[in-house]
Amino acid sequence: MREKTWRQTHVKVEVSALNFYTFAVTHRVLSPVAMPFTHRSAAADVRAMVGGKAAEALRVAVLGSTGSIGTSTLDVIAACPARFSPYLLAAHRSTRLLLEQARACRPSWVVVVDPAAAAEIGVGALPEGTRLAVGPEALDDLVQSPEVDRVVSAIVGAAGLRSTWAALEAGKTVALANKETLVMAGPLAMRLAERTGGRIVPVDSEHSAIHQALRTGSADEVTRIVLTASGGPFRTRSRESLVHVTPEEALKHPTWSMGPKITIDSATMMNKALELIEARWLFGLPAAKLAVLVHPQSIVHSMVEFVDGSVIAQLSPPDMRLPIQYALSYPERIDGPTRRFDFTQAMTLEFSPPDPARFPAVRLGHEAAARGGTAGAVLNAANEEAVRGFLDGAIRFTDIAEVCERVLEEHPFQPDPSLDDVRRLDGWARQEVVKWACV
Ligand code: NAD
Ligand code: MG
Repeated sequence: MREKTWRQTHVKVEVSALNFYTFAVTHRVLSPVAMPFTHRSAAADVRAMVGGKAAEALRVAVLGSTGSIGTSTLDVIAACPARFSPYLLAAHRSTRLLLEQARACRPSWVVVVDPAAAAEIGVGALPEGTRLAVGPEALDDLVQSPEVDRVVSAIVGAAGLRSTWAALEAGKTVALANKETLVMAGPLAMRLAERTGGRIVPVDSEHSAIHQALRTGSADEVTRIVLTASGGPFRTRSRESLVHVTPEEALKHPTWSMGPKITIDSATMMNKALELIEARWLFGLPAAKLAVLVHPQSIVHSMVEFVDGSVIAQLSPPDMRLPIQYALSYPERIDGPTRRFDFTQAMTLEFSPPDPARFPAVRLGHEAAARGGTAGAVLNAANEEAVRGFLDGAIRFTDIAEVCERVLEEHPFQPDPSLDDVRRLDGWARQEVVKWACV
């Protein structure tokens, strides 16, 4: 009954300044739901913490430094020099920007994953004190170095799994933007972190909001997690017109500035599907306790409902530097470069349920989260390939969810896959999409 009421609700809340203070955080012992993040203190934390405060700057490895999350991470590091210092910057092949970043912040290492791109780096291009490493193996090794205190995992797509895995294997604290790690291999990654003492602190704004809200209650008091979604650029478009959407239109997000892949995922709402799966493993909650609500202003980043009916939300202007900073400074909160509200201005917050007919991807996410096993990896790979096909003009916008559903249905499901199984099915799903697009 409660579920029904929630779905049918279309709430419009007029928010005045003082109402925000009702979201005060109580300082309780962290709940078991948040336990994956707190069960053991990483060695780096001990080194860096004296009397509960950071004693020296944490050395940060930024994987995917030339991307949207990567550049925002460098903003946070530059704004908090006493707290964070860049140790390593890694990118795929955007060497020009990578070198610019290296000259600006002087890390110990830059890593270029693509050897062909690395070969174009001229002698003397690196600033003094910065060394160059090339290839994915070199990145894995450096990420595991004892000199790395925090790893920001911000490589886009399935390609990010490998280095995130390496970081967790070495017991690092990972600020995780690469949701694909948990979508593809959630139970495996969580078990790995448990075994090595590694820690995952989410960067995805929704999961950061939930992480923060969970600090106000205990695991057995949680009844539901509500992920908010902007609804993307086609929130109000008719179902028929979505067939004709062009890549240019889909790449214009109304509230967030992000990399191209996640921007398309926001337009199809596949991003929310991936985030449902991410939340399922990160917070260890059954899929039935996860819901999605469209909130076009992107101010409320997600909410947790507790057993007494209280709903705790996290609010802030849409600015990824806040969840990045939170993931880096956790368990502390520190001053930083992020935007603040102007409470002298009136503000309207709207919420409505997603439309399953126009955005079928959300249902696929629910189903894959409930099914577990290889469903997340297959959905993720099929979607990555379908997005590529859409951007290349090979398939239509509405084909993305359709082909994902087909591949998900037809895949040889495994309930408890190994990492090899996950990789194999990732490759299989990509080929299926290519075949489908060619028919
Ligand atoms: P982006 O496309 O802007 O940047 C991607 C980065 O990954 C670049 O630095 C690129 O060089 C690097 N990269 C790509 N392929 C690589 C490979 N094979 N090996 C090594 N490096 C590689 O992407 P983004 O928007 O910053 O997103 C990064 C991750 O963060 C994604 O998993 C995304 O889902 C997640 N995320 C992003 C946002 C956002 O606001 N952009 C929000 C939440 C989560
Ligand atoms: Mg998100």
